[in-house]
Amino acid sequence: MARYTGSVCRICRRENLKLFLKGDRCFSDKCAFDRRSYVPGEHGQRRRGKISDYGVQLREKQKVKRMYGLSEKQFHLIFETADRQKGITGTNLLVLLERRLDNTVYRLGFVNSRSQGRHFVRHNHFLVNGKKVNIPSYLIKVGDVISLSENSKKVQAISDSIEAVVRRGIPQWLELEKDQLKGVVKNLPVRDDLTMPMQEQLIVELYSK
Ligand code: SF4
Repeated sequence: MARYTGSVCRICRRENLKLFLKGDRCFSDKCAFDRRSYVPGEHGQRRRGKISDYGVQLREKQKVKRMYGLSEKQFHLIFETADRQKGITGTNLLVLLERRLDNTVYRLGFVNSRSQGRHFVRHNHFLVNGKKVNIPSYLIKVGDVISLSENSKKVQAISDSIEAVVRRGIPQWLELEKDQLKGVVKNLPVRDDLTMPMQEQLIVELYSK
């Protein structure tokens, strides 16, 4: 799978939005977007011409895809699942993205970014309902209990992230039992739980062409 290996801060600057891809750095005065909030590259500060409808839709899809750190193929597969479900496709898409295990451990504050979440899930740091799950795309369900494997309880990066989560806050659909180092899925996320600016209808329009 092709993987982006460049500077992730360039992605925020390209999408003209803080996407919080770098953990604590995103909340510090070192944030590249806060320092240079224009498109990267030699001509980044030039005025841009009018962007077409297709361009607007494409940028929105790229933004959401990059926010969740997914490849085009992974993102499109999730879209197809969302499209097959009942209800509003765009909302289904966002809910499916939020339910991924790599995102859920990030939302719970066990890790400081989704990419770290993916890495730690793959390295067997987490249990779901007492069983090891090392698949980042695993979809959590209501009532699932996400905890740390015994060795992972001593990992400093995880302890540091949990301390920092107070700054970020836990969404209402999750509950963190900090002393027990575990999180519970109280409800599935709903559209209102997602506070980042996302216009999912534009993604639906793009893929419906
Ligand atoms: Fe984006 Fe975080 Fe880099 Fe700022 S520090 S530009 S929010 S990834």
